[in-house]
Amino acid sequence: MTKAINYIDPVCGMAVDPASAPAKTCYNGIELYFCAEGCRSKFESAPQDYVVNKRKGFWRRYLERLNKATGGNPPSCCH
Ligand SMILES: [Zn+2]
Repeated sequence: MTKAINYIDPVCGMAVDPASAPAKTCYNGIELYFCAEGCRSKFESAPQDYVVNKRKGFWRRYLERLNKATGGNPPSCCH
């Protein structure tokens, strides 16, 4: 049984299944999945808005959740 990691679409806050996510991108070495291309476009046009300004604390919670789910080894797409 594979352990599913739930990723959160940082734009709309939806849980996204990486296996079926229609869009993904990379930010600060962390893979981010989106529920739709539209959400990815929004994120890529102003990523700092989503990880810093509009959702203060989101990024920290996201990383905490990711670390918990992956045992401290979040998947990386940058290297
Ligand atoms: Zn979305």
